[in-house]
Amino acid sequence: MAVLRFHALKEALNRKPVEVDESIKRSELFGENVFNESTMRQYLTKEAYQGVMSAIQDGTKIDRKIADQVASSMKDWALSKGVTHYTHWFQPLTGGTAEKHDAFFETIGNGLAVEKFGGSELVQQEPDASSFPNGGIRNTFEARGYTAWDPTSPAFIFGTTLSIPTIFVAYTGEALDNKTPLLRALQAIDKSATAVCKYFDKNVKKVTASLGWEQEYFLIDKALAASRPDIILTGRTLLGHSPAKGQQLDDHYFGSIPTRALNYMRDLETECMLLGIPVKTRHNEVAPNQFELAPIYEESNLAVDHNSLLMDVMGKVASRHNFKVLFHEKPFAGVNGSGKHNNWSLSTDTGINLLGPGKTPMSNLQFLTFFINTIKAVYDNEELLRATIASASNDHRLGANEAPPAIISVFIGEQLTKVLQELEGVTNGKLSPEEKTDLKLNVVGKIPDVLLDNTDRNRTSPFAFTGNKFEFRAVGSTANCAIPMTVLNTIVAKQLKDFKIEVDALIKKKDLKKDEAIFNVLREYIKSSKKVLFEGNGYGAEWEKEAKKRGLSNNKTTPEALKAQISKKTLALYEEMEVMSKVEVEARHEIELEEYTMHIQIEGRVLGDIARNHVIPTAVKYQNMLIENVKGLKEIFEQDYKKEAGEQIKLIREISEHISEINSKINAMIEERKKANKLEGQKAADAYCNKVKPYFDDIRYHCDKLEIMIDDELWTLTKYREMLFTR
Ligand code: ADP
Ligand code: MG
Repeated sequence: MAVLRFHALKEALNRKPVEVDESIKRSELFGENVFNESTMRQYLTKEAYQGVMSAIQDGTKIDRKIADQVASSMKDWALSKGVTHYTHWFQPLTGGTAEKHDAFFETIGNGLAVEKFGGSELVQQEPDASSFPNGGIRNTFEARGYTAWDPTSPAFIFGTTLSIPTIFVAYTGEALDNKTPLLRALQAIDKSATAVCKYFDKNVKKVTASLGWEQEYFLIDKALAASRPDIILTGRTLLGHSPAKGQQLDDHYFGSIPTRALNYMRDLETECMLLGIPVKTRHNEVAPNQFELAPIYEESNLAVDHNSLLMDVMGKVASRHNFKVLFHEKPFAGVNGSGKHNNWSLSTDTGINLLGPGKTPMSNLQFLTFFINTIKAVYDNEELLRATIASASNDHRLGANEAPPAIISVFIGEQLTKVLQELEGVTNGKLSPEEKTDLKLNVVGKIPDVLLDNTDRNRTSPFAFTGNKFEFRAVGSTANCAIPMTVLNTIVAKQLKDFKIEVDALIKKKDLKKDEAIFNVLREYIKSSKKVLFEGNGYGAEWEKEAKKRGLSNNKTTPEALKAQISKKTLALYEEMEVMSKVEVEARHEIELEEYTMHIQIEGRVLGDIARNHVIPTAVKYQNMLIENVKGLKEIFEQDYKKEAGEQIKLIREISEHISEINSKINAMIEERKKANKLEGQKAADAYCNKVKPYFDDIRYHCDKLEIMIDDELWTLTKYREMLFTR
């Protein structure tokens, strides 16, 4: 008897929805557990408050005296909420978050104790960093790394712990986390974009990059998930036959949310409110038991922290509701995978969204400037952008006819395509007064009307303009958004920097007016980057051919895609924009390759184990039942038995064939693993990708065939239909 599976099913079927209390208005809960501006105003002295605010707004340093005051107030606030511990909260290169809790509690002799938290504890900590990925930056004998307070992301309380967002760097100064390069990239975009804004408005002092992510995920009953070793160990199913009914009826997307899942979401949203994560949207996604959650967009650094925090909280709340949340990009074959759209825009401290068309021709010229520069940045760096979304798990999704392909292109809609075509025809050099008027009235002047009906959304595009923002849709659901956002902001920063240099040169050399020079440079950009624009079906085979002709890359696997991370061009870009040093870039590259290798290695082992410990023994049991049956038939029908037992005999043979295929494929896979394990870096990743991974589909094919042949009562692994349709 398949004990675990049936136990799990019974448990799952008997679940009652967990009740949630929503008696308090959300707006009243919002930010309740965050040391935010209003809490700081209440708890800090005026001096300390101003010190922190100017650190947030202008990046000024916080001196020790102020830090002491802030720490002491943070502690008072935290203690008033029943908090006992504090932690520096950071995002190491594992992609997740890390925390080490220390109690406020200190002994002071004579058997007495107090609660203490000083500026030095707030500002800097030294976690033992040798166990975090560092890509060889630190050897273990020089294991010191430190975390440093990031005042731009407010401290928060989760449970009974005060969490302080920090960066994580090696003692030698290299970043060991995902936040540090992001902060540097955000500084770079601020600098470049502010300089360009001054063409249009001298008052702009700061440009902020915004991010609104959309998190997709699956909810599976906890007991059912626990009955699948592949889900527990790899986050996805490595085998399992498609259910007779999948998502083909399109009856789940935007459908009514099942009660258990809805209660989970309500509970989760309450936690998000307390933590100041402004979640707004929830709905069913395309696949059964797949959902999405999206917040109101925020400043990028905060948005990244909030997404990382959310993923952590989602897991915790899920367990209260007897769910396991799956973030994997492709937990189930044959149904949709999960992504995390990154909606991105730039806004000024004067309140203008630079990617939203304005009311006047001049503000629209500003819009076009940022719009076209972004397109050019994407074109010039498409391979690097592709590399930022590369992972073993996202490889299942990109190009699998549900998510964007691995080819990076930009969708802008029919009307903006026309606008760019008209701009491309602008005269070289000085413009005639007529041409200027025409441009202002008929091209630049018409944009706001045009965008109102820009509802055409091409879901197959990896990078789409959606009215007032770009949407990077190829990002995977497990990703830390800091990685793609670091690259996007860096490449646009570099592009805007070059743009400013070119425009200034034209004004000077050719004596052009500012707007003439801008039109001239933009025209050249449109010409040189229009190959990246694509409005058609990104899933089609024709697009692959067409993209190849256009010279766009199509790096289908992670080991291939990651190469762009360490190209000369990339290294020069990071160095010029002061986002990452060569050592930092190379360390990250090494870590990602290794992560890929280990990922496939683990999947290979788990698949081999499940096939041998579950599938083959079950198949043998069933085969024995058939053999008994055939023997019995022979006893009854004697010579004639073959007529009666013909089908059973066929099944017995088929089972043997599948078993033999599975076993020999596993052996062959193990041999390839042994060879691959002798390699390192790129070579190891390539071997795992091209030599080991191809066996997965083969082995799975035979296992899945057995699944539908064998007596359901004997099958030990919880089936797709049970995981996807138990509500
Ligand atoms: P979709 O149709 O893809 O679901 P929505 O219009 O619902 O897209 O928006 C999705 C996300 O985009 C939300 O997180 C929202 O906050 C974010 N968003 C909206 N405007 C902007 C902007 N100007 N900059 C960044 N993100 C934005
Ligand atoms: Mg979207």
